[in-house]
Amino acid sequence: MSEEKSLNFLEEIIEQDLSSGKYTRIVTRFPPEPNGYLHIGHASSICLNFGLTKKYPGYTNLRFDDTNPTTEETEYVESIKEDVQWLGFTWENELYASDYFPQLYAFAIQLIKKGLAYVDDSSSEEMAVQKGTPTEPGVNSPFRDRTIEENLQLFEDMKAGKYPDGTKTLRAKIDMSHPNMLMRDPVLYRIKHAHHHRTGDTWCIYPMYDFAHGQSDSIENVTHSICTMEFVPHRELYDWLITQLGIYPSHQYEFARRNINYTVTSKRKLLQLVNEGHVTGWNDPRMPTISGLRRRGYTPESIREFCDRIGIAKRENMVDVGLLEFCLREHLNRIALRRMVVFNPVKVVLTNYEGEGEWLDTENNPEDPNGGTRPIRFSKEIWIERDDFMDNPPKKYFRLSPGNMVRLKSAYIIRCDEVKKDEKGEVVELHCTYIPESKSGQDTSGIHVKGTLHWVNAADALQVEVREYDRLFKVEDPTDEEGDFKDYLNPNSLQVVTGYAERSLEQAVLQDRFQFIRKGYYCLDTDSTPEHLIFNRTVTLKDGWAKVQKNEAS
Ligand code: ATP
Ligand code: MG
Repeated sequence: MSEEKSLNFLEEIIEQDLSSGKYTRIVTRFPPEPNGYLHIGHASSICLNFGLTKKYPGYTNLRFDDTNPTTEETEYVESIKEDVQWLGFTWENELYASDYFPQLYAFAIQLIKKGLAYVDDSSSEEMAVQKGTPTEPGVNSPFRDRTIEENLQLFEDMKAGKYPDGTKTLRAKIDMSHPNMLMRDPVLYRIKHAHHHRTGDTWCIYPMYDFAHGQSDSIENVTHSICTMEFVPHRELYDWLITQLGIYPSHQYEFARRNINYTVTSKRKLLQLVNEGHVTGWNDPRMPTISGLRRRGYTPESIREFCDRIGIAKRENMVDVGLLEFCLREHLNRIALRRMVVFNPVKVVLTNYEGEGEWLDTENNPEDPNGGTRPIRFSKEIWIERDDFMDNPPKKYFRLSPGNMVRLKSAYIIRCDEVKKDEKGEVVELHCTYIPESKSGQDTSGIHVKGTLHWVNAADALQVEVREYDRLFKVEDPTDEEGDFKDYLNPNSLQVVTGYAERSLEQAVLQDRFQFIRKGYYCLDTDSTPEHLIFNRTVTLKDGWAKVQKNEAS
């Protein structure tokens, strides 16, 4: 789909590494912390890591970065696996940082024995003071000069559960006046008497991110460890630990986070929306989570295309959700089955139509030569959109109005003869004449009309629930506004309406993608039952993004 593109900076590095013989194959990993569901930002990282090993020899691991027992749950692990697979990627190994706890403990002992780590009794407040500031050097902890023997004993006692939370830590012994604050004796281990979703109560000391991530990379022989820009200052510590431990030299590379407008992409914030009931769950179709997008009707192809188009960069920027929707429409236009659904109906009575009715044939997707056709029922009484009729139309109104003719999609041309109104002046019925010779595909009438309307047969239309979604937030960046980000939720992000659908939609299944003609793209919701069909609006038909692009190009 995409034209020949220049290499991104990671591809350039990898091509050099392969051609210089530094590596014969590359290993990447996607390392989510299982403390929430994956969102569209994670999709960028997934497509990047897995995409690189699709393009170059090598493989990608899925590694759960589960070193923080209090926020992690098995439910999240399961959802992450489902989401990565759904996006179309296969991992080489399913790995857990928690499986490395014994190895990480051994690494810590190794550092203590080299005189490069010590047990500190300072509280976190005291440590913060010791650290100094970016412009002032820090001061040594009073516990920094404990002997190796003492440190080994204390660390063992920490592991054995002899001390309460927060009373001791293991710190690297580097340099309290280092220009990089993260190098000022960073904490490697803390005490936490907490149950872990995989290791249970085996451990009461847990490694910090910086003492788990790089070491896990190294254990797995990861060649290119890709993370987001906020870890740039951590790279020095990443390298220091690998060098001091003498383990496999993985390398860290950073790229900018991808955020999209009118939503939030932070698991912590998304969790608040779930917990406080602003949405129905992590997979609410308004959520920017992979599971929300899936339920909304997004396709993995469209998300991959979006990630590919935005590519990677070193500078953070906000991506227009319009681009995501553009990629979605492009894909759905090719695959969606066309169906007719009327939302706000007005009855049309074809006064000259005789008999029971008939079956007409209509194509499923004009964009797909193999899309086939389906039968639709046509008879004397049909429904059209109330909006498609006007009593006193302006010039160039090509829809239905008194005396005017339109084509009913895949059916006949009709002319409006008479408008029936109730006492309040509301239109209740339109009496029309149909032109028998104007049947679609066999039209000999010689009549030319400008408007084509969608419609449904009144007698057997299905009443369905339609959930029309809009942006979750009213502003582009709710985290950049005054007050709480939740103050900017869009109160109209969900509107439930009734639709009158052609009968064939009875057979809809979850995987189906539909275009309700002249309305938008829709799919069945997971709440739907055969007795009560529920459709989600995936995206409207209007293509705001393409217009913007065209204007920019001209
Ligand atoms: P969040 O802030 O939503 O909790 P996180 O970075 O803490 O995100 P992790 O589970 O640690 O979530 O992320 C797994 C991987 O996905 C990391 O490598 C991280 O850098 C990457 N990632 C997370 N958010 C984004 C984003 N918005 N854009 C690109 N990559 C991201
Ligand atoms: Mg994180």
